[in-house]
Amino acid sequence: MNFAFTEDQRMVRDMVRRFAENEILPIAAETDRTSTFPKETLGHMADLGLMSMLVPDEAGGTGMGAVAYSLALMEIGRACMSHAVTTSVTNMVCETIYRFGTPGQIEKHIPRFTSGEYVAGAFALTESGAGSDAGSLKATAEQDGDGWILNGAKIFITSGSYAGVTLIAARSDKEAGKRGISVFLVEADNPGLRVGRKEEKMGQRGSDTVELILEDCRVGSDSILGQPGDGFRIMLSALDGGRIGIASNSCGLARAALETSAEYAKNRKQFGRPISSFQAIQFKLADMSTQLEAATLLTLRAAATKEAGRNYTQEASKAKLYSTEMVQRVTREAIQIHGGYGYVSEYPVERCMRDAMAVTLYEGTSEVQRIVISRGVLGAS
Ligand SMILES: Cc1cc2nc3c(=O)[nH]c(=O)nc-3n(C[C@H](O)[C@H](O)[C@H](O)COP(=O)(O)OP(=O)(O)OC[C@H]3O[C@@H](n4cnc5c(N)ncnc54)[C@H](O)[C@@H]3O)c2cc1C
Repeated sequence: MNFAFTEDQRMVRDMVRRFAENEILPIAAETDRTSTFPKETLGHMADLGLMSMLVPDEAGGTGMGAVAYSLALMEIGRACMSHAVTTSVTNMVCETIYRFGTPGQIEKHIPRFTSGEYVAGAFALTESGAGSDAGSLKATAEQDGDGWILNGAKIFITSGSYAGVTLIAARSDKEAGKRGISVFLVEADNPGLRVGRKEEKMGQRGSDTVELILEDCRVGSDSILGQPGDGFRIMLSALDGGRIGIASNSCGLARAALETSAEYAKNRKQFGRPISSFQAIQFKLADMSTQLEAATLLTLRAAATKEAGRNYTQEASKAKLYSTEMVQRVTREAIQIHGGYGYVSEYPVERCMRDAMAVTLYEGTSEVQRIVISRGVLGAS
């Protein structure tokens, strides 16, 4: 077992850390306060090759690999969760097009992620009546000549207003249950696709979360990803990788909360001495650090398993479950360490906790991860 990173992985991590500290962290609080989608910094991130990291160079991506990707997202999550979730969803979409796309689809879309022409990608599975039970989705895809006509509404779609291309899951065969779902690549300017309600969120407020409405949205036959009926399998497979992204973001956010809390504890004096001299505070920091380390190891193990080309569904679910629940505990303790100052927006831990509340919900709730993991334990997956 080798815990050392390669030279390339260290370089990516250090480069993203510098960028995140210099360009993302300074705008994180304002991004949250004003709910502004950070288009400009995302563009700079594309320039650094951070939007197609999981796609090999020869297919137009930047081919950095799953471990370097995880390290990069940890750095971005440490600076700002709105940037982090947008980046992870975009990379998930880009990689899914590469894995399941035709040569024509790959050639058309991947370079646009890499160049930043697509500021983001979006993944549209959830509907008002189909959340955890995504296989019950009702959006329809009807074959029409040499194309398809899509109708329905998707909700909670990350980057839905800004994505250059969105993966949209719709039912192409009403009789075939989950095997009747197909995925379509729909470009932003496709007639019949429009953005509906924009959600006002508790945290991650700079990320865009919107409803997408499909009204007789006509797409060509070359817009289907994979074969008709493959859609549910494709979306679930994409989410396996996505879960490593969310776990990585969560580790980054927890690190920010831990570092801020340690610094605060060293400087804040009560009873004539720094609160860091109280064992009650020291033990909180010790528990936060230990849990963060455990989550980081689970996450990097999932990434390394993926990079080695092995099945990583179980590893990804465990990493996502543990890291996302960990960051909620760690950010709550960060507020406790800050006392009353932790509860006001002048200090960043208040935002950290609000940002942490979303991660156990999307890309499969904690309960859904436990379903996946227990199937593995029981040999039923
Ligand atoms: C900020 C944000 C961004 C999002 N981005 C996207 C996106 O980009 N694309 C997209 O498609 N979706 C997105 N979503 C939607 C997200 O994936 C869903 O919210 C999630 O799948 C849960 O579905 P639901 O909200 O309908 O909750 P429900 O499925 O109604 O669940 C409610 C509760 O019941 C529990 N539950 C449900 N079924 C079971 C079960 N069988 N056993 C035990 N417990 C169960 C859940 O775990 C949860 O606690 C986003 C959501 C948020 C909040």
